[in-house]
Amino acid sequence: MENPYGIKGLVLRGGEKAGGMYVGDWRVYTPKIDRERCTQCWLCIMYCPEGAIEKGEEGPEIDLRFCKGCGVCANECPLHAIEMIRE
Ligand code: SF4
Ligand code: SF4
Repeated sequence: MENPYGIKGLVLRGGEKAGGMYVGDWRVYTPKIDRERCTQCWLCIMYCPEGAIEKGEEGPEIDLRFCKGCGVCANECPLHAIEMIRE
């Protein structure tokens, strides 16, 4: 799919769950969202390779069953609102 936003590295999905596998057991670091910083830009949702993040009432919500702890969301968040915490 063509990237209409011109953002380098942006991966767009057609709405289906990207990974859809229970990779939570792989995780060594867990993403923690700072809701004070988060502006709900939803970029983390677009970048997560496992489709583990969804829109919630108060911002992004991470389903840890699908999160492998890769840290892509933390790296891509423009507000530095996601911190990776060692489990
Ligand atoms: S990328 Fe960062 S600021 Fe944007 S929704 Fe995710 S946590 Fe919030
Ligand atoms: S660390 Fe972030 S980007 Fe990586 S799988 Fe977990 S929620 Fe997705």
